[in-house]
Amino acid sequence: MKSIILTSVLFFAQNLVWGSDQPNIIVILTDDQGYHDVGFNGCKDIPTPNIDRLAKNGVVFPNGYVSYSVCGPSRAGLLTGRYQGRFGFSSNPTLDPGAEDAGLPLDEDMISEVLGRAGYHSMIVGKWHMGSHPFYHPLRRGFNEFFGFLVGGHRYFPEEWVLWDLSEVKQRGDWYRTKLMRNFERVEEAEYLTDALSREAVDYIYRRAKERAPFFLYLAYNAPHGPLQASEKYLDRFNHMEAGKRKTYAAMVSSIDDGVGGVLDALEQNGISDNTLVFYLSDNGGARGNASNNEPLRGFKGSMLEGGLRVPFAMQYPGKIKGGQVFEHPVISLDILGTMAGLTGAVIDPLKPLDGVNLVPYLMGMRQGAPHEYLFWYHGDGDAYAVRSGDLKLTMEGKGGEPALYNLASDMHEDLDLSRSKAEEKAVLQQAWDEWMQDMKFSTYRTLSNDVWWE
Ligand code: CA
Repeated sequence: MKSIILTSVLFFAQNLVWGSDQPNIIVILTDDQGYHDVGFNGCKDIPTPNIDRLAKNGVVFPNGYVSYSVCGPSRAGLLTGRYQGRFGFSSNPTLDPGAEDAGLPLDEDMISEVLGRAGYHSMIVGKWHMGSHPFYHPLRRGFNEFFGFLVGGHRYFPEEWVLWDLSEVKQRGDWYRTKLMRNFERVEEAEYLTDALSREAVDYIYRRAKERAPFFLYLAYNAPHGPLQASEKYLDRFNHMEAGKRKTYAAMVSSIDDGVGGVLDALEQNGISDNTLVFYLSDNGGARGNASNNEPLRGFKGSMLEGGLRVPFAMQYPGKIKGGQVFEHPVISLDILGTMAGLTGAVIDPLKPLDGVNLVPYLMGMRQGAPHEYLFWYHGDGDAYAVRSGDLKLTMEGKGGEPALYNLASDMHEDLDLSRSKAEEKAVLQQAWDEWMQDMKFSTYRTLSNDVWWE
């Protein structure tokens, strides 16, 4: 009798849990995509009908930021909902699979772990970059499934994946040539990389749609990060363009767009689109070398200028959030976990509070104003930094220069330094950053650029 009552209670509880309060979540993260290189931000030479469809179904964030201007630290922020400097993840770590300290610290809670405790099943498809040592494997960080690669990038054609694993690395860049992984196993794969990742994402949605539990899918494309490699299928769409970097980049963005279309179709075909949040963003601004376009912003990947930090950013949640919105206040990738924690009531470690906030009340009109009073950034050595409050941004580009003050409402390109005319406002921003910085740490691990672990 007792067990029948318990079973009934559990069944009831599960049915309560599996409701609109526990939506599915999909984060589609691209790599080094330029601010301008989506239709919803004005791109003309690369059609992105599916990414635009997502934006039209939901909300565009023209002031959408990431918490760092290169891959690894930006992802560490996104995945923890906290400024990654709080735990010293402030540069790209070495990819040495023997480096026990070069990864996202195990005592930090990742979104996969937070949602896992709330009953979510989760999968990462694509790029990990949160540590190559077996300690840091995604399946040890709350994910139930993994298909992709551990390091910060990859070549795109299967015939180039000639190394079994990272132990065979002999020179810089070899890590882009390993076999892909499914969970803990190396696998043979025949498809163009972006297509393989899209296929796995769609397959996961179909499989999870049958289960009575919410899911989290982290679809971390490495496109359009270098090396610039596109398959004929996508290059053929751009035959009107001159052969060169921009053409290949366009084809790579187009391959992502097909993948986004597949994801949205899979949600609709399974009747779960209304109850699924889908975020789309890039991990940092367009890179100088991949023919991306950050207009009308200045600067590239790696910079504290807007071109490094502000990214294409949109989301849809059709069951709750009205489509066709443009949300002008600054938001940041940290808000993705903030939003999910707010929606699900997932337990957050009180000693490690989130920096991200729940955006849904703002998008439903239940809360007014800006979600953040300040947003902060600093580069690995602390020489370059930035802080934004309202329309004002203090930008210190580093290299021994002086911080400048810009009004982004009238000067998105950060040309006109207002340091003299707005000295008081500048001092307030500087002081806010100084105080915030007291809680940040620098990385202590060997970094991607300074390590030669294969020698
Ligand atoms: Ca990146």
